[in-house]
Amino acid sequence: MIEVGWVEVPCAFCGGAGRDPFGLMSPLATCQVCGGTGQRILHRPTAPCAFCRGTGVHPGSRNTCTTCDGIGTVEIPAQAIPCPHCGGSGRAADYRWPDSPLSCACCRGKGVVSPSKAQTPGVQHDH
Ligand SMILES: [Zn+2]
Ligand SMILES: [Zn+2]
Ligand SMILES: [Zn+2]
Repeated sequence: MIEVGWVEVPCAFCGGAGRDPFGLMSPLATCQVCGGTGQRILHRPTAPCAFCRGTGVHPGSRNTCTTCDGIGTVEIPAQAIPCPHCGGSGRAADYRWPDSPLSCACCRGKGVVSPSKAQTPGVQHDH
């Protein structure tokens, strides 16, 4: 039974420090992901972001991860299962090397999908 509700997760992009980890503007610049609070509020259930492996950093860059928005944690569907298209890696099929810059179009980089989506492979559900 997965507990449903809101959960505070530490900001992976800045490691909870609330500062821009790369100091692109200034070493004291506020983290753009959490606004300096060092954490973000997400809705359960959550899982570590598969695409950036929980780092919050977009693979191959110094930008925030497009899948988790830099938090390092993503909101996932209830009873989520590994994405059948990327095998849970969160990476596009043709770009599955460790620092692939492209996320899987099926799970959008989360590495998991809802069971209903997995039962209809090839069908895209865009809302
Ligand atoms: Zn932050
Ligand atoms: Zn991510
Ligand atoms: Zn996928």
